[in-house]
Amino acid sequence: MSKRVLIVGAGLAGCLLATYLARAGWQVDLRERRGDPRHEGHIGGRSINLALSARGLKALRRAGLETAILRDAIRMPGRMIHSRAGALAFQRYSSNPAHAIVSVSRSRLNLTLLLCAASESQVNVSFHQRCTGVDASRGEATFVDDRTGAISHATADLIVGADGAFSAVRDIMHKVEGFDYQQSWLSHGYKELSIPPAVPVGTHAPGARARFAMDTNALHIWPRGGSMMIALPNPDGSFTCTLFWPHKGEGSFAEFPTAARAREHFSREYPDALAIMPTFDEDFARNPVGSMVTVRARPWSQSGRLTLVGDAAHAIVPFFGQGANASFEDCEALVDALAAHDGDIAAALVAYEVQRKRNTDAIAQMALENFVEMRDKTASALFRLKKRAEKALHVIAPSWFTPRYDMVSFDTMPYADALAKAQRQDRALIVLGIATAVLVLALASWAVWR
Ligand SMILES: Cc1cc2nc3c(=O)[nH]c(=O)nc-3n(C[C@H](O)[C@H](O)[C@H](O)COP(=O)(O)OP(=O)(O)OC[C@H]3O[C@@H](n4cnc5c(N)ncnc54)[C@H](O)[C@@H]3O)c2cc1C
Repeated sequence: MSKRVLIVGAGLAGCLLATYLARAGWQVDLRERRGDPRHEGHIGGRSINLALSARGLKALRRAGLETAILRDAIRMPGRMIHSRAGALAFQRYSSNPAHAIVSVSRSRLNLTLLLCAASESQVNVSFHQRCTGVDASRGEATFVDDRTGAISHATADLIVGADGAFSAVRDIMHKVEGFDYQQSWLSHGYKELSIPPAVPVGTHAPGARARFAMDTNALHIWPRGGSMMIALPNPDGSFTCTLFWPHKGEGSFAEFPTAARAREHFSREYPDALAIMPTFDEDFARNPVGSMVTVRARPWSQSGRLTLVGDAAHAIVPFFGQGANASFEDCEALVDALAAHDGDIAAALVAYEVQRKRNTDAIAQMALENFVEMRDKTASALFRLKKRAEKALHVIAPSWFTPRYDMVSFDTMPYADALAKAQRQDRALIVLGIATAVLVLALASWAVWR
């Protein structure tokens, strides 16, 4: 008889995991708190689009979904830096021109994953099912239907919490002795704004391509030292902008609480963007300020039959564009561990955590570091020089030097190995820089005194 798994949360990770496990012969019960997006549309709240890279695409390929997702994706081979004066500077992510991250619609990605999972005969999906309790030792979870208040129970051989950064399943695990938990809130929040297509949708000639108000194939960044705005392109010609400002203090959401005050600030700090944001006032007033959190927890399993995947296990800040990518990698690692420990779920859960924890800790650290790089360093000439030197070193000695961004976004090597190699390389670059400076000084003094 096939084993039964109960997955809490039909988000990105929950849906992909459901597909993988169904194909591996499991009977899957997938339960989601929200309504069915196939009938009720997407109820979002977070970024409209997100960036996928090598890891996420590999996991989607394994489910046979890469082509479908890439059909509407927009390539972003580099970042476009916007100065206060409106000057533009394109920084390619990699020395390999074939390398690009892609911008995809979050709701379409989730819907594609859900349709794929639901098409498996072994998967049963139900909506409006909010998980309120888990008894790991009995393999039982409790759900409330938020529309009717009806309470139901479900049992399974394995329960997986795929219920996101503010996971109810993890909260329940938290109460058990021996569960370590650390949650760090970022002092910055985020708010979404938008840039519409250059020609409004609907006024195109039939079959005409959408026109973008800025360069289409780039992730746009307005680095402003301590804060920043980014924009990712959408297939309809629009851009979704995300503004990252501190919650409090100078240049914060608290200092500019109204659209009128924010507009004034924008006209000084982001004038080129404001000029192409006709709905700025409505967007600023309507869209909430979101919070970002890094969550580190362990162990990821209890009683040998309850575990976590995705943001539930390791919420990270979004500055490396890796949260979904890492969550998809979790799904691959979990299904592989279950296959490798055929029948021994408890051993598989331990192996899964051993493989993933060091890697998700590493990407959590790199994501925080990348925030500083994006908002403070991308505008600096020294930083650009360093990036050029890194790319040149990679071309000259590819096996010795690979830039961090390439290892994280265009490779699927374990994140922890990428971090360790990047740290070694940074040290080597410092030594190389000092040696070059000493050599230049020595040559200059020799030229003067000879
Ligand atoms: C502003 C922002 C930008 C981002 N950009 C990127 C990016 O560019 N690239 C990238 O890779 N990642 C990005 N991320 C991260 C990415 O969104 C997450 O890592 C990813 O969504 C995690 O997937 P998940 O399935 O674990 O969680 P989610 O996608 O959050 O899914 C969790 C699901 O569980 C459901 N749920 C919650 N509680 C319950 C409950 N009690 N009972 C039942 N169901 C429940 C939710 O409704 C939801 O459907 C970004 C995040 C943010 C905040």
